[in-house]
Amino acid sequence: ESEKVESVLEKQKKVVVSGDSRILVFVRVRPMNKKEKEVGSRCCVKIVNRRDVYLSEFANENDYLRLNRVRGRHFTFDASFPDSATQHEVYSTTTSELVEAVLQGRNGSVFCYGATGAGKTYTMLGTLDNPGVMVLAIKDLFSKIRQRSCDGSHVVHLSYLEVYNETVRDLLSPGRPLVLREDKQGIVAAGLTQYRAYSTDEVMALLQQGNQNRTTEPTRANETSSRSHAILQVVVEYRDRDSSMNIVNRVGKLSLIDLAGSERAHATDQRTLRSLEGANINRSLLALSSCINALVEGKKHIPYRNSKLTQLLKDSLGGTCNTVMIANISPSNLSFGETQNTVHWADRAKEIRLKVSDANEDLLSIPETDRDQAKLALELQKEN
Ligand code: ADP
Ligand code: MG
Repeated sequence: ESEKVESVLEKQKKVVVSGDSRILVFVRVRPMNKKEKEVGSRCCVKIVNRRDVYLSEFANENDYLRLNRVRGRHFTFDASFPDSATQHEVYSTTTSELVEAVLQGRNGSVFCYGATGAGKTYTMLGTLDNPGVMVLAIKDLFSKIRQRSCDGSHVVHLSYLEVYNETVRDLLSPGRPLVLREDKQGIVAAGLTQYRAYSTDEVMALLQQGNQNRTTEPTRANETSSRSHAILQVVVEYRDRDSSMNIVNRVGKLSLIDLAGSERAHATDQRTLRSLEGANINRSLLALSSCINALVEGKKHIPYRNSKLTQLLKDSLGGTCNTVMIANISPSNLSFGETQNTVHWADRAKEIRLKVSDANEDLLSIPETDRDQAKLALELQKEN
């Protein structure tokens, strides 16, 4: 059985890296926490065969019969992680292929979606003892680069930013809000710190520091960032020569996104979305839902311009990108409503089709003089 699951995953991943494809969608259930246990809450989520999520509000047959409600519902995802899944399992199933793709000059993005407290930051950042996807991806990236160090040169740059109340901030160098500008490469945050990373060791400390800089809700002093989105961008530039001595320049970008809490922002159609606007709801999260709806429906116009988050993620959503969604949920019946919303949203995200383009690669096929060669050699040297 597990072999079968394995092979399905392999096949889907190959599709993702090679061409026309859809978003890969995963669900992760976190362990029941102390508070949930103390009040005697019941588990309402079951993971079946490592792929299916079974949601049931009721503990036993009599309850749902008596209340005349449906028994429960099955949903199928690319993989579903029970509360026993390790950070490594989550990383290697959801993201390791994207790291490989980024090294080949493609873009990739991973989103964590779910209510506050459902495990998004744990999945993305993790703890010192149990680092999450962001840290494991960078570790893996460096080890893959080391394995190929004989050819060409790689440069890795990190940026870590936040969108809170439609304001973009640099988490690596807090200060004035950043302005978004459109340039040839797409939409960029002007003045954003591009941190040149050399090793994994410094990265965890850097990210933890950055996370401390995330905006905290005044009303929820203990809960960091339930309305802020954190985006880690990892840009990998590669330079080499091909067999006919042309310069090859490849740039791949991996975006890892810890979204704001999805509570109160669920909407699966345009009408609900419109009625939610104006209410005190995270505009960027609603805009993300709108874009996903438009992508699912195959619309020509995708409303990226509606928020800062969707502008920043334009090239990571519909365009030339491999996209992964991880929906985080609590197992407790206390959160049943939110869990149901999150799983429905994730189920819908499966419908998004993407067109993955060729690698972002420049082949400069101008014949070169000795001087040009010397210049390039010098540049490569400087970068190493
Ligand atoms: P969110 O970012 O979605 O608001 P967090 O990631 O902060 O939620 O998780 C809430 C709490 O639950 C944190 O204390 C976190 O360490 C813990 N937690 C979440 N997921 C897991 C998990 N898979 N294993 C162990 N602890 C977890
Ligand atoms: Mg969080």
